[in-house]
Amino acid sequence: MDQKSEDRELIDLHTHSTASDGTDKPHALMEKAAARNIRTIALTDHDTLAGLGEAGEAAADLGLQFIRGCEISTIADIGEVHILGLWLPEKCEVLENFLEHLRGQRHKRNEAMISRLRAHGFDVTMEEVAAKAKSSVGRPHMAAVLLEKGYVRDRAEAFAKYLGEQGCAFVPKVAPSPLQAVRLLADLGATSVFAHPRLRSWPLPALESLTRNLAKNGLSALEAWHSSHTKEHTKWTIRLAERLGLGLSGGSDYHGLAKPGIQLGENSDLRPWIVERLMERRRLEGLPI
Ligand code: AMP
Ligand code: ZN
Ligand code: FE
Ligand code: FE
Repeated sequence: MDQKSEDRELIDLHTHSTASDGTDKPHALMEKAAARNIRTIALTDHDTLAGLGEAGEAAADLGLQFIRGCEISTIADIGEVHILGLWLPEKCEVLENFLEHLRGQRHKRNEAMISRLRAHGFDVTMEEVAAKAKSSVGRPHMAAVLLEKGYVRDRAEAFAKYLGEQGCAFVPKVAPSPLQAVRLLADLGATSVFAHPRLRSWPLPALESLTRNLAKNGLSALEAWHSSHTKEHTKWTIRLAERLGLGLSGGSDYHGLAKPGIQLGENSDLRPWIVERLMERRRLEGLPI
């Protein structure tokens, strides 16, 4: 690689594939990453590790640094909080079992929501929805079926009218607490990251006190750079991480066509130093990288 392209190398520690609600297969995602000059990439599908094998192999072939990850949906007092796990070990049966349980809870909730959609007069079945994902199924797949069948004009309408919190088919999620997810990841020697802390408009004192509590219980880092974060959100998150002695992470939250407009490594601030600093923290803790 010449000096110029090395200078522009990017990283992306938050991406989704068809194992959950992204639209690129794991190997295709790695190919896109390589084409976009991304040096290090983590695959972080919602509540599943099903894409990691394929992605890891493709990344190795392409010469990318690959980080095994996942994004765990949890429920806190303030609402739904996403916790990323990074540097997951190859063997993590405890996490596999935990995620399998979460997918079981997803399944029950999906069934309840689909029956509401059917009561509304929509011809939507569990089979059609489940066929949209390899492993972790959820509302984005219902949105895809509603769109395909012409019941809505776009995904936004599907969420606004039917699938979002104000929608008539909405059923709340049953999920673990962020504390449970953080502790489990810490026990595995994984790096845990509070994902997109400013994505929702949570009251800042409540957000800070939750983060402080997680930091005391093994949280490793905050996701300062995220496609939904403004510069101000990023600055605020960096300051909070500094105050709490936490590391920093960043990713695009790329979902392919499921979230058009978000590119892999899209934020030009997603630079290799972010990964290097996280790796340094792991080295200091004696954790493998
Ligand atoms: P689930 O885990 O099944 O509740 O689905 C949550 C996912 O749905 C989130 O990760 C988002 O990708 C997507 N989502 C949530 N709200 C919206 C929205 N208003 N518009 C589009 N996608 C959304
Ligand atoms: Zn998603
Ligand atoms: Fe998320
Ligand atoms: Fe995500």
